[in-house]
Amino acid sequence: MGFSEIIGHKKQIDMLRQAWLNGRLHHAYLFVGPDGIGKKTLALALAQATHCTELDDDFCGGCGACRGIQSGNHADVRVVEPLSGKKEITIQQVRELEKELTLRSFSGRKKIAIIDRATLMNRPAQNALLKTLEEPPQNCILILIATNAGGLLPTVRSRVFGLSFGALPRRIVTQFLTSKGKSQQEAEFLAALTMGSLGAASKIEKEKLIEKRQGWSDMLSSLTPGNYRAALVSAEAVAANRDETLMFLEWAGIWYRDLLTFRITRAWDEIVNQDMLPQIEQQSAHTQENLLFSLLVKTTEASRRIQRNVNRRMVIEDLFLEAVEIH
Ligand SMILES: [Zn+2]
Repeated sequence: MGFSEIIGHKKQIDMLRQAWLNGRLHHAYLFVGPDGIGKKTLALALAQATHCTELDDDFCGGCGACRGIQSGNHADVRVVEPLSGKKEITIQQVRELEKELTLRSFSGRKKIAIIDRATLMNRPAQNALLKTLEEPPQNCILILIATNAGGLLPTVRSRVFGLSFGALPRRIVTQFLTSKGKSQQEAEFLAALTMGSLGAASKIEKEKLIEKRQGWSDMLSSLTPGNYRAALVSAEAVAANRDETLMFLEWAGIWYRDLLTFRITRAWDEIVNQDMLPQIEQQSAHTQENLLFSLLVKTTEASRRIQRNVNRRMVIEDLFLEAVEIH
């Protein structure tokens, strides 16, 4: 292992690594960027580099310290997340962390605390953290991780050094997936679908999405104007399992975007479902732009409603009935 094997984010990595090598790291950072792109990986890498017993200017990934940090068992490195089954990071967790940070380092090197999904700290927890940010204990570094800084108090934000991370370029995610044994075509599809999130691309892999989407696209093409029965039967099938419903909606949003893009531009290289050209040509020819656009918007909205626990079947029926409505 080592910094050079972390995927993407070269600029941010170089900057942090230089600061680390020169002993000029700030006492608190905020890593902001989409989920699954490697923010926590980089925070852990910095902790490993700090504690690695094999290398002075990098981390090996194999020594006791590196492995301990990776598995969450290192006395000087602490990752704070919501406790299992909880949705928030509480003031008690922040107080415990503060107490630990004031203790002497076991290794004699810097203590490192990583707060993952820092915006899940509730208000009292964030207020408690302020004290530490205002008077940082000697010899420790705090790294907050978040998908956006909006959920943090301005007083917290103003006391941390912000570093923002973008989605990974499609090309890089594709390379990573082919190196893990995916075919070029499958890798390109997954990379486009997950919009530069390695974490999401690796997770979707397991779900056999590729096999499912043929059936999904057949189903959506059966939703022709006036075919209310198909809409209701399909909605029942899609709504049977929550995870699958959400996965379907994620894909369906991209499918409708593909149809819309193709209908308007005929530009093939912008299409995500590259291997389904015949279906895309056919369906986009038969569906009006304004309907495709409204289905695209409704698909995103449906996903949000299901995440808020609105009845799944109702939400999907609503979407599919829009598709078969005679306009
Ligand atoms: Zn090591």
